Amino acid sequence: MGMAEDAPHPVGGIDYPRTLKEFDEWFPTEAACADFVRRVRWPDGFRCPPCGGTMAWPTARGQLRCRQCQRQTSATAGTIFDGTRKPMRLWFQAMWYVTNQKHGVSALGVQRILGLGSYQTAWAWLHKLRRAMVRPGRDLLDGEVEVDETYVGGRETGVAGRQTHKKSIVVIAAEIQGRGTGRIRMARVNDVSVGSLVPFVQTSVSPGATIRTDGWSAYSGLAKGGYDHQPKSISASGDPAHVVMPRVHRVAALLDRWWLGIHHGAIDASHLDYYLDEFTFRFNRRRSQARGLFFFRLLQQAVQREPAPYQALVGGKPHLARKI
Ligand SMILES: [Zn+2]
Repeated sequence: MGMAEDAPHPVGGIDYPRTLKEFDEWFPTEAACADFVRRVRWPDGFRCPPCGGTMAWPTARGQLRCRQCQRQTSATAGTIFDGTRKPMRLWFQAMWYVTNQKHGVSALGVQRILGLGSYQTAWAWLHKLRRAMVRPGRDLLDGEVEVDETYVGGRETGVAGRQTHKKSIVVIAAEIQGRGTGRIRMARVNDVSVGSLVPFVQTSVSPGATIRTDGWSAYSGLAKGGYDHQPKSISASGDPAHVVMPRVHRVAALLDRWWLGIHHGAIDASHLDYYLDEFTFRFNRRRSQARGLFFFRLLQQAVQREPAPYQALVGGKPHLARKI
């Protein structure tokens, strides 16, 4: 379980630092950081983004000039670091800090640790890094999986059952691994309809897997979606929800604590998806002692992402289910 997310060291022939001391030794200069970014971005050698050429000369300004099309490029072009005016070394330090704080970090924490002049920069960096926390084309959950929804946000009274006004609805899938929990996936959904819940499961869990849910009618669409659906009626079982779906409820409780503890409950709903990505990234690596690998994975994913200009960050991202 989680093999792809906790690979041995080194990864794909690229080694990485394991301790802060090693980190400092590996990346003393801008050039050392730039060289590492190049190796992570092009592990099989340089590939010119416009023409696919494989040969390049370094330029005096630290860029690469393609031998085939003569265009200049840099290893950070087309990644989340695109257009940054800050040193890569500072980005490396930010990534090291973010991946070494087991329970996550706030923008204020990043600003203080890195000595950034502006809170806005720290906030934007964290959001860019969160976008790199989801691996493009990542593996689907498999085996037996619990699925249930939870509500994230301010406390509200006078709202019954699955209705909500101020809170965001987050649907959680958690692999059953013996008595414990394997990997998780989560997403914000608009509502708890078939059209929201089933697409979430389809983008999170392998077809044919066993899905355990409560008796909520919308989940009955899962059988048609190619899953072995095992609903359990909570009222019929007489057990409270946290007994029937213990893994999802434990994850929901951790999410709640994280939300209040690190972010003091102050997350704009339109950005919630990215916080969920960060939570998932951390949760799925919670047993890993290899913090250096965590740093390496974040960098690896960061150079595979599209650039995220500030305006796009401020706008948040659309609901997963709305697009389906
Ligand atoms: Zn080229």
